[in-house]
Amino acid sequence: MIFDLHVHTNYSDGLFTPKEVIDLAIKKNLDGIAITDHDTVDGIETAIKYNNSLNKGLYIIPGIEFGCIHLNEEVHILGYFIDYKSRELANLSNKLKESRLNRGLKMINKLNHIGIKIKKEEVKSLANENLISRSHIARVLVQKGYVKSIEEAFNLYLNRGQPGYVEKVAPNVKMTINIIHNLGGIAVLAHPGLLKNKTIIKYCINNNIDGIEAIHWKHKPEDIRYLLNIAEKNNLIITGGSDCHGRLINGDYLLGKYYININNIPIMKGRI
Ligand code: AMP
Ligand code: MN
Ligand code: MN
Ligand code: MN
Repeated sequence: MIFDLHVHTNYSDGLFTPKEVIDLAIKKNLDGIAITDHDTVDGIETAIKYNNSLNKGLYIIPGIEFGCIHLNEEVHILGYFIDYKSRELANLSNKLKESRLNRGLKMINKLNHIGIKIKKEEVKSLANENLISRSHIARVLVQKGYVKSIEEAFNLYLNRGQPGYVEKVAPNVKMTINIIHNLGGIAVLAHPGLLKNKTIIKYCINNNIDGIEAIHWKHKPEDIRYLLNIAEKNNLIITGGSDCHGRLINGDYLLGKYYININNIPIMKGRI
């Protein structure tokens, strides 16, 4: 049973609506997907309802991707099978969205000060329900011709250390893993291959992370080998997904190109 366990929708910084994600997942013959938007589960209900109405046998795992900062690096933690209807989660998510809005406004201000004339309305019009991400700012920078690509927007303005950057308010790694567990979920370290400081993996293991995402579109073969080895030694589950944001990469959408066989993950298989 082939699952892509890392998919974004336009409820965070993806381009596809939940319906478009599901249509594409079915077209790509996947058995299931996990919807893992940044800091929110708002797209999940629509996705599940639409998917049920189609009745094509696709399975949807409710998920989320939280972003933490640890040792000066972005550490992303995926939560699977979380209680997406939880009040506590809705409260946390609303707080994160509000702080993202403030941060977005600060970033726009910083950019304005260096002569980049983008407006908050332009950024907000791309974002759903106030979940403002750097991706939305990057898209406006491309649209207005300040940069040629999203990558360039990050490299010149939006990455940590660049002139438009403002740190996000976020729970720390330990809290995040606990939050996911308290929501009945499974916590997985996202794209650990991208971490500069690999001791962060050990830190997550010491704080009860359940698994690591070994398969990811940005992982090189040596990253995967390294991560599989860590998973085996530490008795972690191994997951994989595309991290599809709905952009065309080399002429195709990433959805379903990076995946895992859920039969190999008994604690997940048992829950579907
Ligand atoms: P934020 O959550 O607002 O800090 O924005 C981070 C998001 O920006 C990530 O989830 C990625 O989707 C996107 N992102 C970060 N770096 C890059 C990059 N170099 N190129 C394209 N997208 C990026
Ligand atoms: Mn993203
Ligand atoms: Mn991520
Ligand atoms: Mn992601």
